Amino acid sequence: MSECLFCKIASGKIPSEKVAESEKLFAFRDINPQAPTHILIIPKKHIENNLSLKDEDKELIGEVHLLANQIAMKEGIDKSGFRLVTNNGSNAGQAVFHIHFHLLGGRIMLWPPG
Ligand code: 5GP
Ligand code: ZN
Repeated sequence: MSECLFCKIASGKIPSEKVAESEKLFAFRDINPQAPTHILIIPKKHIENNLSLKDEDKELIGEVHLLANQIAMKEGIDKSGFRLVTNNGSNAGQAVFHIHFHLLGGRIMLWPPG
């Protein structure tokens, strides 16, 4: 069995507050939200981070972006705006090595990010 935290969340072995699910994707609320809406979108398939993506994952990543739009609409942050962020590696602060897309919204965000 995979020891990966997000593999366990995607398979339901570890509980989470599910927001959406499709054949290949799972979306759930971040346990430590950084904005009024903070949702993590992950592929069910284990991929470490952006650098591990393969040609065969092109469609999967497109699906992530389309699901993000659907969730943003459902959360009512599509018009006010949102961020879709992926941290890759230590300088970016990646803590969980199963690729995930942070969907953040519901407040004004600054640029550059911290
Ligand atoms: P990273 O820093 O790797 O980009 O983001 C990891 C995110 O996963 C963090 O925002 C953190 O709060 C979230 N997280 C870590 N463990 C859990 C957990 O067990 N459940 C949920 N829902 N989120 C988690
Ligand atoms: Zn995993």
